[in-house]
Amino acid sequence: MELWQEMLRASVDSGKDLVERFGFDKDLAEKLNSLFHIRINPYYLSLIRYPGDPIWLQCIPDAKELEDDGFPLDPLNEEGDSPVPSITHRYPDRVLFLTTSQCSMYCRFCTRKRKVGDSGKISMKYIQSGLDYIAAHPEVRDVILSGGDPLMLTDVMLEKIISGLRAIPHVEIIRIGTKMPCVLPQRITPKLCKMLKKYHPIYVNTHFNHPWECTAEAKQACEMLADAGIPVGNQAVLMKGVNDNPDVMLELMRKLLAMRVRPYYLYQADITKGANHFRTPVSVGLNIMDKLRGHTSGLAIPYYVIDAPGGGGKIPLLPQYVLGRNGNSIILRNYKYDIYQYPDVEEEEEKKPEAQLEKRFMRKRTRPARKKVFEEKPIRAESQS
Ligand SMILES: *Cc1c(COP(=O)(O)O)cnc(C)c1O
Ligand code: SF4
Repeated sequence: MELWQEMLRASVDSGKDLVERFGFDKDLAEKLNSLFHIRINPYYLSLIRYPGDPIWLQCIPDAKELEDDGFPLDPLNEEGDSPVPSITHRYPDRVLFLTTSQCSMYCRFCTRKRKVGDSGKISMKYIQSGLDYIAAHPEVRDVILSGGDPLMLTDVMLEKIISGLRAIPHVEIIRIGTKMPCVLPQRITPKLCKMLKKYHPIYVNTHFNHPWECTAEAKQACEMLADAGIPVGNQAVLMKGVNDNPDVMLELMRKLLAMRVRPYYLYQADITKGANHFRTPVSVGLNIMDKLRGHTSGLAIPYYVIDAPGGGGKIPLLPQYVLGRNGNSIILRNYKYDIYQYPDVEEEEEKKPEAQLEKRFMRKRTRPARKKVFEEKPIRAESQS
């Protein structure tokens, strides 16, 4: 058994552990344990500095998880975009490929709580149907291995999946979404890196949420991936009490860059049963973005996105930089709130052939929205009569 597998075995993973190690009430511990799996491996556990700190909040269950009755289990309607059990196909040219239900830690804020840890819902038997689906859909040029955590699979199993994908000519890039560099960096071994680098272009997106997670071990793991030629990005989730503060976020983003990890997304926390106590007002996220842009390296700045409830996909949000127009000028403000006017290009430009081409393209893209208006009309007419 490899070191990381031994460490997983030594995880805190039961209601009994909550009672014995963290003084939980027995009843509460059992309720929490039956709601969503518990798993905290000894490495991540060692990052906790005091009860209720930003590390603790992410991994130790909380009575608040029991309060969210009536909230959706599948807020992003991933099931609705799922042609076969292991695939979520929402965007034109890329798919999520769920390869395992297991995680090295069960994050209390997980948006896929309905699925992770439940091997009946994501499992090996669906891997082949996933590969078949991708092979049958030439428009899929980007496959994102997700889960669960795909690095919970053994190297042998993972290589079977990745080489299976590489055998499909239209798959251009393979991405791996994994929390391992953050929660169990020991999983990133020379053997794993050597295997992955045979299948380039491979990208990894990892998941750090707080500067305390940027340890020497984590840095080494990220550097090993980078040395294997794998660009590593980060997808953080904005969470109350964890990182809902511009200074904390700035420190996290700078530390990630220093570990050769490029911040990619900052997610607004989803509306998920059992995880709503982490949500923050959108204004908090916008304020954080405002305090990043211009104040530190542009490389350190992720896209702040809301994954639209019901399955609309990721929608980026930006602080307001355009204040208005003055005749033909746009009024802008910079990161210091100084005001500038930018003389826009005269509208006649539109008559140029490129602009007309673009206009036609835009018209085509907005057509579905117009169709909807027509569909609504009869309903309105009825209610008036
Ligand atoms: C996030 C996501 C992707 C990848 O989106 P990118 O913006 O390309 O990183 C693909 N499919 C689904 C269903 C997603 O949620
Ligand atoms: S590692 Fe990812 S899928 Fe697993 S519990 Fe955490 S957020 Fe959810």
